[in-house]
Amino acid sequence: MLNNATFPSLQQRSLHTVWHPCTQMKQHETYPLVPIHSGKGVWLYDKEGRRYLDAISSWWVNLFGHAHPDINAAIHDQLENIEHVMLAGFTHEPVVSLSERLVQLSPGSLGHCFYASDGASAVEIALKMSFHYWQLCGQTQKSHFISLQNDYHGETLGALSVTDIAIFRETYAPLLRPCTHVPTPDWRYARPGDDPETHALRTASMLEAHLAKHHAHIAALILEPLVQGAAGMGMYHPVYLQRARELCDHYHVHLIADEIAVGFGRTGTLFACNQADITPDFLCLAKGLSGGYLPLSVVMTMETIFQTFYHDKTAHAFLHSHSHTGNALACRAALATLDIFERDHVLETNTRKSAYFNSAATSLRDHPKVENFRHCGMIWAFEVKTCDAEFAANCFQLGLQHQIVLRPLGKTIYFMPPYVISETEIDLLIDATLAVLDSITH
Ligand SMILES: *Cc1c(COP(=O)(O)O)cnc(C)c1O
Repeated sequence: MLNNATFPSLQQRSLHTVWHPCTQMKQHETYPLVPIHSGKGVWLYDKEGRRYLDAISSWWVNLFGHAHPDINAAIHDQLENIEHVMLAGFTHEPVVSLSERLVQLSPGSLGHCFYASDGASAVEIALKMSFHYWQLCGQTQKSHFISLQNDYHGETLGALSVTDIAIFRETYAPLLRPCTHVPTPDWRYARPGDDPETHALRTASMLEAHLAKHHAHIAALILEPLVQGAAGMGMYHPVYLQRARELCDHYHVHLIADEIAVGFGRTGTLFACNQADITPDFLCLAKGLSGGYLPLSVVMTMETIFQTFYHDKTAHAFLHSHSHTGNALACRAALATLDIFERDHVLETNTRKSAYFNSAATSLRDHPKVENFRHCGMIWAFEVKTCDAEFAANCFQLGLQHQIVLRPLGKTIYFMPPYVISETEIDLLIDATLAVLDSITH
């Protein structure tokens, strides 16, 4: 292996210097990294031309495939003018146009857009804004947040405080703010005989009991609408969101909708909140916002909140900032993404694609190792009956052997493909997944 020592591979160089996210680095003694050189549509390619179908949209961010010509062109065009200018004291066309488009597309009257770079930062902003609003209103005791059991909102300390995923939380628990996680409406937890709607209503009444008792100290309820992603794509009935909205109104508690994963068509409507016909007080968006191209997030909120901060005193303002707030390249990528939605009637096309996917997936749904096969818009998920403690890692490897990227969450396999996936590619994905399931021996 003299050759290898002289010319270390990209994987070896990466393992030397790059500390990879959400990774026990030692596992890469056994599992090699996958070097990606290029992408096109749903496919990722290495230098030797091996390809992998990106069934999880590169951690749920990519909406219209890799190297989309329109998004590429928009970024190129923006590069010729200005790549970035700070948003304090300055403004630019892309950030204004994007804000106008988002205001027009979002539910209700969310008229104000505050930008950051990633999802967790958007969550921090929504939490701080909610708390600060109540401070400015003289309701200084409103300093607690509640979220749903199994919710995920990101991994910075504030976002992690409202997250309820043990593996991310446990180590850092002493650093986190106390937060109550009310019972989840996820129907996998329903009592035997309860349908998803009954379970949603039952858990909503538990939310009501909690709010009735503690509302005076609660600033906001934050939740992942319709699909709890990191918990293994737990899905729930929209009636829960309707009840949560009514209860938050009644008890003067803000509702923060974290649509970082589910926004932009993932659940079948442009926003998940549309399915319950509700408007949150704060809407957090990231991931697909820029088509998955560049880090960009936004918190949208309403006039009453904005006006409360509008004042002669500087200290009365929301003084939060990120260096790359409203980055012009990212905003152009986002505008190009919204153009594709409009021009290609993406929501309607996705309805047809998802119907095709469901009919093509009957063999998966009926597979003896598959449980709880479920679907919401452009998300599919199921649990695999297996005793393999290393199932997720093994399944990832098996997927690669069959040219697909699966990254199970525990024993849950899910698909969240880019919307450009074709019927042939859907068939490929399902056949490859069946082959993976058949090679699981225990
Ligand atoms: C991914 C995600 C976040 C965090 O976003 P980052 O950009 O990874 O910080 C927050 N909430 C939800 C629901 C997410 O899926």
